[in-house]
Amino acid sequence: MNAEVLKSSLVGLLPIFEQEEANLTNLDREIGDGDHGVNMLRGFKAVSEKLSGDTVSDVLKSCGMTLMSAVGGASGPLYGFSFVKMAQVGHDEITSENIQDYFKAFKEAIETRGKVTKNEKTMYDVVSHVYEDLESGRIPSKEEVTQYALNTKEIMATKGRAAYFKEKSIGVVDPGAMSASYIINTLLEGVRS
Ligand code: ADP
Ligand code: MG
Repeated sequence: MNAEVLKSSLVGLLPIFEQEEANLTNLDREIGDGDHGVNMLRGFKAVSEKLSGDTVSDVLKSCGMTLMSAVGGASGPLYGFSFVKMAQVGHDEITSENIQDYFKAFKEAIETRGKVTKNEKTMYDVVSHVYEDLESGRIPSKEEVTQYALNTKEIMATKGRAAYFKEKSIGVVDPGAMSASYIINTLLEGVRS
């Protein structure tokens, strides 16, 4: 995936977040404040208007800075910082051989910013699971990535707003895990053969 392909992939998240806005917002209404769909849509509208860069690193950085300034809530800084950190990986193209490096940066960025570990019912559960798959030498399928997000349903939240819902957070899929699955599948799509 070169800079041009990456750009069109990231811009291609806009129709996905348009389609999923209500779903994400409904999930966040149940275990949060009901703004995750709106936040993500605002973010990727801004990305579709402002994304720039002639190298993979510059495109990732532009995406991160745009998400940081356009998306409110907890998820904006988390995704924004993650893309900025992925920009520092520095390969000329993203390939099936090096995509693991990008997910390492993605995972570590969320760990640092979110002070989060696995099974806290967040986007981190999806990112870290995908990183582990890549580390063991395989690219998870789209369905598997979706399943990693759906698996957050049975977890009790201990981070973010959802943590205030304690036991009541069990039985609802984490909205950030769901949005992470869309972003991740877009990145993986570019290197799946
Ligand atoms: P807010 O919670 O501020 O309203 P959003 O609704 O946009 O922000 O995003 C909520 C999502 O952010 C959650 O579903 C969860 O996946 C993620 N999240 C919240 N706090 C953390 C954290 N500390 N670490 C990782 N992810 C988090
Ligand atoms: Mg919210």
